[in-house]
Amino acid sequence: MIYIAKPYIGEDEKQAVLRVLESGMLAQGKQTAELEARFAALCGVKHAIATSSGTAALHVALLAHGIGPGDEVITSSFTFIASVNSILFVGATPVFADIDSQTFNLDPAQVASVITPRTKAIMPVHLFGQACDMGALQALAEKHNLLIIEDACQAVGARYNGQVVGSFGTGCFSLYATKNVTTGEGGMITTDDDDIDEKCRMIRQHGMKRRYYHEMIGYNYRISDIHAAIGVAQMDRIADFIAKRQYNATYMNEHITSVITPTIAAGCDHVWHQYTIRLDGDRDRDQAVQQLNEAGVGTGIFYPVPAHQQPYLQEMLSTVQLPVTERMAKEVISLPVHPLVSQDDLELIVEQVNTL
Ligand SMILES: *Cc1c(COP(=O)(O)O)cnc(C)c1O
Repeated sequence: MIYIAKPYIGEDEKQAVLRVLESGMLAQGKQTAELEARFAALCGVKHAIATSSGTAALHVALLAHGIGPGDEVITSSFTFIASVNSILFVGATPVFADIDSQTFNLDPAQVASVITPRTKAIMPVHLFGQACDMGALQALAEKHNLLIIEDACQAVGARYNGQVVGSFGTGCFSLYATKNVTTGEGGMITTDDDDIDEKCRMIRQHGMKRRYYHEMIGYNYRISDIHAAIGVAQMDRIADFIAKRQYNATYMNEHITSVITPTIAAGCDHVWHQYTIRLDGDRDRDQAVQQLNEAGVGTGIFYPVPAHQQPYLQEMLSTVQLPVTERMAKEVISLPVHPLVSQDDLELIVEQVNTL
């Protein structure tokens, strides 16, 4: 079976973990600081703050910006639920804008149409490894004086007009096992703002700057040095990871003829967290998935139910209608694109998809 996701863990990662274990210093420390420095450099920002997960990164970023009850945050409903939950954690209201069917990302015109006097921030989700239309979203944010909190969890290293995601506002990343760069579990916040950096560091650790003096309420959202050490080793591989994902995606785009293949938007360097095809209209997705799986091609459906249709949000959001999001949720199938997909695998994937 060609799995839909498989972490690439080499000798460097294993040795790095062993060194931490042997050092006896397991909690957040030197490895975390090293990972933060490397990550900040990668994103071209002043500060990076490591967290225990991408979800924690989003939660901390929203808190650090003082977003809370009464505030509205505009985001996509076609996302992993953590984007939305982080907005709910701080007591703010998620407001959904519909997406573009070519990129699966927020449609700036739709974002503009849901801005109200209560809107405090836009949370663009750079879905599947491709940046949102940041030019248009930045223009909207400037015009209406809104913050930008990027959910870049799937898009480490992705660029928009040459600028790396995570540097357009406050960036949030996931280092979960199946993400493009991993620490097993982990997350990262990126910012150029000294004040936000300081607040994030405090919120991560029980509101404390000086040990056992607590200036505000906070959480335990630290990463361990065991995890951070894996991330430091992965930082050396990012360029290769991205190049291999781009090769795999290009190959599939050039050879798949039977379904709608994914689009690269103008100005975007896509890092292909997912390679996502669409079976349009009335074609039977369940049948297609079954056929691919039986032929040894792993698949993923990201995401079968958009956030606004999740059962626990029905009371709050039952009147929301997002036609493009709802259609995409029914049509998408993601195929293996990760760095461990070989040329033979690619040929099998293409052959099988072309029989659909
Ligand atoms: C993975 C992911 C998250 C959450 O990250 P975790 O590390 O799993 O907490 C948030 N948003 C998106 C779009 C993601 O893909």
